Amino acid sequence: MRQSQLFAPTLRETPAEAEIISHKLMLRAGMIRKSAAGIYTYLPLAQRVLTKIAKIIREEMDREGGQELALPIVQPAEIWKESGRWDVYGDEMFRLEDRHQRQFCLGPTHEEIITTIVKNDVRSYRDLPLRLYQLQNKYRDEIRPRFGLMRGREFIMKDLYSFDVDEAGLEESYQAMYRAYTRVFSRCGLKFRAVDADSGAIGGNSSQEFMVLAEAGEALILYCNTCNYAANVEKAISKTVTPQFDGSIKELELVATPDQKTIDQVCSFLGVAPESTVKTLFYGTGSEYVAVLVRGDDQVNEVKLGNLIGGNKLYLASPEEIHEVLGLPVGYVGPVGLEKYQVKIYADLTVKDLHQVVVGANQSGFHYRNVEPDRDFNNVEYVDLRTVKSGELCPHCDGRLSEARGIEVGQIFKLGTKYSKALNANFLDDKGQSRPIIMGCYGIGVSRTMAAAIEQNYDENGIKWPLAIAPYQVHLIAVGADQLPLAEQLYNGLLGAGVEVLFDDRNERPGVKFKDADLIGIPLRITLGPKGIAQGEAEVKYRHTGNEERWNLNDIISKVKDYLKDNDSTDSKI
Ligand code: ATP
Ligand code: MG
Repeated sequence: MRQSQLFAPTLRETPAEAEIISHKLMLRAGMIRKSAAGIYTYLPLAQRVLTKIAKIIREEMDREGGQELALPIVQPAEIWKESGRWDVYGDEMFRLEDRHQRQFCLGPTHEEIITTIVKNDVRSYRDLPLRLYQLQNKYRDEIRPRFGLMRGREFIMKDLYSFDVDEAGLEESYQAMYRAYTRVFSRCGLKFRAVDADSGAIGGNSSQEFMVLAEAGEALILYCNTCNYAANVEKAISKTVTPQFDGSIKELELVATPDQKTIDQVCSFLGVAPESTVKTLFYGTGSEYVAVLVRGDDQVNEVKLGNLIGGNKLYLASPEEIHEVLGLPVGYVGPVGLEKYQVKIYADLTVKDLHQVVVGANQSGFHYRNVEPDRDFNNVEYVDLRTVKSGELCPHCDGRLSEARGIEVGQIFKLGTKYSKALNANFLDDKGQSRPIIMGCYGIGVSRTMAAAIEQNYDENGIKWPLAIAPYQVHLIAVGADQLPLAEQLYNGLLGAGVEVLFDDRNERPGVKFKDADLIGIPLRITLGPKGIAQGEAEVKYRHTGNEERWNLNDIISKVKDYLKDNDSTDSKI
């Protein structure tokens, strides 16, 4: 491609709207332009990167038995009503009506429609398994579209759905996708980690997210530095350490704690550590309140709580609201005697093992001390509800957990029979019995992966594309008009050798050309300048390392071919 003809309007200044690196650099490198919040045009350079990511994905899906199809974006409301998700999906769904006032949506995901397709044409176990996928725009009216392509309202996703006859088949499909995803992100040149993920209302240990490790990531990951345990903070567990206890059980004691309302205040007033206190929080579900008890030094994990009580309207009730509704004093609420208030009480597992703890006494200005949860709490259900912190012990080995930020680029998920039961997608097994198909679903954010690649590969001058997904492999620069004839020759030679070349044939100052080259970030830069040519050489610069070399003009094509071969990840043996 001749750069004089390329539509890549680069910008010197960073547009004010961009907050994170990938957004800034894609705007500056002339890759994307915004149409509306979370809705973007992909200009030619971006389109080339997306096409490359998509090609890698297609190859790896096909290698694991995937078959590509294309489902409609516009989907009838009926199937979403049948699955029960028309109402549950809420404001995130783009809804529309046709001229006959029939309701439709723009697909945010495609379980309903693909299950309907499969159920109509799959009859017997002989028609299974199936692994069907597509690459397509998805539509989600995100509450906060932001960070450019990272959280768009229109974005590209690869979604594959697996259909199996039994759990063992689903396990195979799931592992096949795990392998495929590992190869996809490795081939894209990304540093990533697969982490245990929250699987929402479906429960079970049946979902993993693929996280590209980068500062800008919205997700917090905890990972073991000894074994390969890694989990999203929403899901992470740890081996907890119970504070030391001398074995003496004391009598419950009411103590005056005037004006001591926060954990910190109470702790310093009574001279106790936060891990020897229990705090009581209230969550509203819209129809009722539940009380949640965690150690004073812990935080409630609202995702775990949401899964437990199934509330998608879950919110933390203010102490004032609880005072108004239940008559409990602000700042002095506690679990002793709380059963009288007719609320369901949940406590984190760590609370059960505590001794001689301090809690609010449900009387203004007073706390209890020497509380024994076993003896003094009634009607409490113990479950895992706390948020794990960096430095805690790994649940599987003796290692410790560390924190990192990650960008979720993919998720794999065992669905089981959730959709096949709701939509009656059954098959006849080898004994002629009708059974629901066992499903899985597997998504990759294609446009988000492009942004994530930049978040991991950039410097102050611009992008550093991993070779496999770079818009071009080689950036050929003619410093001035005098070098153009030789550069033309080399350009044609490289094209003839099958190399993807961007040829800067523009009538621009060298400084402008080099700045644009750094910004666009093509991995290998070959510059023809007057000095080098005089010595029969070209200047070569690797964008990733900044290393410079001089290549003999006669060797360039074979050296480029060697470079591409040495760095090829197509046959990644993962
Ligand atoms: P998130 O938690 O980031 O909102 P999600 O878990 O809702 O994502 P999935 O339904 O698992 O997303 O979709 C599969 C993949 O699609 C995600 O792993 C992510 O890479 C991508 N994706 C999801 N939402 C967006 C979005 N708004 N913009 C860009 N990519 C997205
Ligand atoms: Mg997800």
